[in-house]
Amino acid sequence: MAREFSLTPRSVAPVETKYRRIATAFPVPESLPILEALHRTEPIAMQGQPPVVWDHGEGFRVFDKWGNAWIDWSSGVLVTNVGHGRPEIIEAIVKQAQSKLLTNYCFPSEIRARLTTRLSELMPEPMKKIFLLTTGSETIECAIKLCRANGVKEGGRRKNVIVSFEKAFHGRTLGSQQAGGIPALKEWIVNHDPGFVQVPFPDGFRTPDTSFDFFQKCLSDAGIHAANVAGVILETYQGGSASFAPVEYMRQMREWCTAHKALLVCDEVQAGFGRTGTLWGFEHYGIKPDLTTWGKGVSSSLPLAFVAGRPDVLDLFPAGSMTSTHTGNPVCCAAALASIDVVLKEDLAGNAQRMGAILHEQLHALKAQYPQIGWVDGKGLVAGVACVKPGSLEPDGDLAFEIVRRSVEKGVLMFSPVGFAGGTVKISPPLVINEEALRESCAVLAECFAEATAEARP
Ligand code: PMP
Repeated sequence: MAREFSLTPRSVAPVETKYRRIATAFPVPESLPILEALHRTEPIAMQGQPPVVWDHGEGFRVFDKWGNAWIDWSSGVLVTNVGHGRPEIIEAIVKQAQSKLLTNYCFPSEIRARLTTRLSELMPEPMKKIFLLTTGSETIECAIKLCRANGVKEGGRRKNVIVSFEKAFHGRTLGSQQAGGIPALKEWIVNHDPGFVQVPFPDGFRTPDTSFDFFQKCLSDAGIHAANVAGVILETYQGGSASFAPVEYMRQMREWCTAHKALLVCDEVQAGFGRTGTLWGFEHYGIKPDLTTWGKGVSSSLPLAFVAGRPDVLDLFPAGSMTSTHTGNPVCCAAALASIDVVLKEDLAGNAQRMGAILHEQLHALKAQYPQIGWVDGKGLVAGVACVKPGSLEPDGDLAFEIVRRSVEKGVLMFSPVGFAGGTVKISPPLVINEEALRESCAVLAECFAEATAEARP
């Protein structure tokens, strides 16, 4: 099976339901000039997603210009927590744009003060200082910088080790990629910083030993002394599989970090703002990190990300030395304020929890039916369906790709498979999805598994 989306239209069975509409061929023939223009002018690395040419989005649906409609299981890439094209966000953006303040660097502005105040009030102690940035990777770079600066302050220059986890994803810049745990993505880095160390993530699936003792053993096997650790960085759940660490493991991690004066950093870029059925992902662990990094769902739209953390840590650098040109862009701030209001007013964490219960029940039923599903993980409205060769833990990236391809052709939009060897089908609809659309899209997923596994049989 080829793992590339072909640009040659194939005829597909037409679909017409209340929420989905797919005409007779995919990719849509009229969309080809746009797809070809992108292929001509963008790097090949941009070509990984299903060739659906987005025109607009509304709630949990995405539309092209030619009358086709998808139930969205991607949220872009876990961005549109409050739904696509929310009128409240559009209105806030337009109002801010019309005020003629489109940028203001680090000069003070009222809208930036409103957002940092709102976030600081919402965040639990001790995460009361807020540093606005633009992308998730940028927040991770900042967290690394703060961990190391704090490490040097607490224990001298040897206290610089950043511990993170195998199979983690924290972004594509030099530091965030070194904190990541996917070796293939780091092959371009020839001069690895020895201060970045990864240990197995306690997912209970590929790492059966989920004890905290195992964490300590892996560190000492790697020759790392706890005293030299500046920070431990983990995704609140691992994006590649939607796996959480055990609660007890995280409680011990919290104590261990405190005991060794290492900062505990939760990367909430995917997990924040209701996605997992709680407002913040780390709530599931009953712990408070020292630093947190956020992006994606904070605005449900325009690029805005931030670091929230302990004031003494965020204040380690003097005035003028932690800046970014687009920090707290006024239009992005307006979008974020509007999105946060919707998350809270509509209790979207609650909806994620209620809809998530249905989603996970459906996925577990599917797993019981197919030995090709090795593991289903996640909470709330994020789930990972790990495709494996039956009877083994060997990932089956071809099957995962087939599932996504078929699903998109049937009107349920997903991004390409993620995780170890591209074996995970990731499900992350906007948090406003209703039960009818959720059940309909789960039925489509079941159809895809039935067809793809039947076809794979000799
Ligand atoms: N951390 C996590 C957990 C992510 O999922 C991502 C993006 N997928 C990032 C960091 C990087 O964010 P960005 O793409 O905005 O740089």
